[in-house]
Amino acid sequence: SREIQLASRPEGWPTDENFRLAEVPVPQLEDGQVLVRNLYMSVDPYMRGRMNDVKSYVPPFRIDAPLEGGAIGEVLESRSESHKAGDLVLHGLGWRDYAVLDGKRARIIDTALAPATTYLGVLGMTGLTAYAGLTKVAQFKEGDVVFVSGAAGAVGSLVGQIAKAMGAKKVIGSAGSDEKVQRLLDLGFDAAFNYHDGPVKARLKEAVGPEGIDVYFDNVGGEHLEAAISVLNKYGRIAMCGAISQYNTTDAPTGPRNLALAIGKELTLRGFIVGSYNQYAGEATERIAGWLNDGRLSYDETFVEGLENAPQAFIALMKGANKGKMIVALDPT
Ligand code: NDP
Repeated sequence: SREIQLASRPEGWPTDENFRLAEVPVPQLEDGQVLVRNLYMSVDPYMRGRMNDVKSYVPPFRIDAPLEGGAIGEVLESRSESHKAGDLVLHGLGWRDYAVLDGKRARIIDTALAPATTYLGVLGMTGLTAYAGLTKVAQFKEGDVVFVSGAAGAVGSLVGQIAKAMGAKKVIGSAGSDEKVQRLLDLGFDAAFNYHDGPVKARLKEAVGPEGIDVYFDNVGGEHLEAAISVLNKYGRIAMCGAISQYNTTDAPTGPRNLALAIGKELTLRGFIVGSYNQYAGEATERIAGWLNDGRLSYDETFVEGLENAPQAFIALMKGANKGKMIVALDPT
């Protein structure tokens, strides 16, 4: 069986040299365990943080050990009472052809309800991040004007559409290419801009107009966060979801230099980790499935083929090669 190991810790942008494709034996099954043939795996920005040797809310990946992450696979062999061969499962041991794990950690999914890959994205962690971040963290309410950065990505594209579905007055998104901007308009965003077209603050002010914004869903940090603070209305709320503009830089982080505006505007900035909102997973899935059914929500997926290309898929994700959820399709023999 093949797996991708962390060969060394990246400094700044990850490169191919930080990863190693290794051939390893498949472990013997023990009582309670399942053997899974992986079919899809997720690459996510948070994995970049786990490649650093720093204490965080998830422990760092270990050097010379396989990486981990969300995956969907088929049970080949089961010594777990609740699984049988042929079951499709969602679990946390991606980055490898075959996974052996405790059945308790392999959740059976129903592909009659939704395609397998949606359990990694819109109906999985991505959807919960968007839904809980917007409604519970930013306390979105009907009539709010919402700005979301990283808007053509997996989380961001859902945030904008969920806000629209729940009665936002206006939704503005930013993304890294004109093609993505067009996609946002097609998805129903009221306005969108390419953040490479000049200072974010100027582009945002143009898109927002005089009414300002009530909610900022931050996937990016830095200059975007500073720009949002400058146009937020009194009592505005920020859900701090990610700061991808800073994950791969070795420079000192930029901004927000205007944070003191939060005092007079009485802003709320709240960071969050999706894992702390698991109690809303059922609610999120139910509502998102409803919006998917009535056509108010659509999701994009970008596929890369082959385990050997997973490191490149991960790097490409952080360079913006994806529209919607980035997924690696595996086909172990
Ligand atoms: P995305 O699908 O959004 O992929 C990442 C995107 O980030 C790229 O497509 C790229 O799009 C954009 N990007 C990269 N560099 C920059 C930059 N310097 N400035 C602006 N945009 C940039 O990934 P996810 O939807 O999975 O994640 C989005 C964010 O949410 C990340 O910050 C992630 O860490 C965070 N997150 C947080 C969670 C939590 O629990 N708090 C859970 C899940 C995700 P473009 O072409 O537009 O530049």
